Amino acid sequence: MIEHEKTCRRSDTGRIKLSPLEHPPKVEGARDPELATLVATLSPAHYARYLTTIAAPTTRHSLSPEFAAVMSFAATELAGLGYSVTRSPIAVGDGRSENLLAHRTGTGAAPRGLVAVTAHLDSVNQEGRSLPAPGADDNASGSAGVLELGRVLAGRDWSNDVVLILFGGEEQGLLGSLDYVGGLDTETRARLRAIINMDMIGRRNTAQPGVMIEGGPASKTLMSELVAAAGTWTALEVTTSLNPFASDHVPFIDAGLPAVLIIEADDRANTDVHTAGDVLDTVDQALALEILTMNLAVLAGHLQNPPSTP
Ligand SMILES: [Zn+2]
Repeated sequence: MIEHEKTCRRSDTGRIKLSPLEHPPKVEGARDPELATLVATLSPAHYARYLTTIAAPTTRHSLSPEFAAVMSFAATELAGLGYSVTRSPIAVGDGRSENLLAHRTGTGAAPRGLVAVTAHLDSVNQEGRSLPAPGADDNASGSAGVLELGRVLAGRDWSNDVVLILFGGEEQGLLGSLDYVGGLDTETRARLRAIINMDMIGRRNTAQPGVMIEGGPASKTLMSELVAAAGTWTALEVTTSLNPFASDHVPFIDAGLPAVLIIEADDRANTDVHTAGDVLDTVDQALALEILTMNLAVLAGHLQNPPSTP
């Protein structure tokens, strides 16, 4: 039962009803011109290329060769952008899957802050491993978001460090993120200022484009920043929840770290999740880009521009 609860949001039938969603008031701040320039570099064309490449194989099951091939695509892209890429094996049952970590060091003096942008790359078909699992929304949408935010962030220097992570084994019980968080040393935990995990950011389930921000006690400040960024930079309707479950933000939150899940509004209305019907045609890329805009505005604040040289 515990595995079941941890594994997938679709089959988690009760908990979200027990915890009413909050509808925070819209916060509309002034748009910083420098941040506006950065936000304008988010690219629908690049996002579309990442999304379609990741969602192209029949499956990205954690133990499939297709999963490894898409990991290789992401590794090549991120290395080409200047990230230091490592692929870390994880156990999934009797088999092996992997996480991808892409680091970029800031220009500030140590100890620098660290910001993490994460998503699970694996997909699943709930009826069986041999069946199609295109996982376009769950979670090519979020994985492509990690690549696009990585591309934009690589375009300038930052004071703090960034790590982009694509997890494997999420659908088998958050295995990739449990492995990563379990392996964090004390120094790295202390440097982590914000963890933004994207899982399903591309299905429009509501009349108005919307996003749900889900966190824990250590993420309340980060959640407020995201609500303000949504109000300032996007037309997204925001809901929030302090009942984190069933995605890769949970191991971070359980470790007392400031993590959030970013997910399309009313995600439970998407009944194609974990089926052959989770296909590219159903992904609203404009919604995903609005969500990336919100995330980018907050990430930039945590990464900080280095002081300009005279
Ligand atoms: Zn997912």
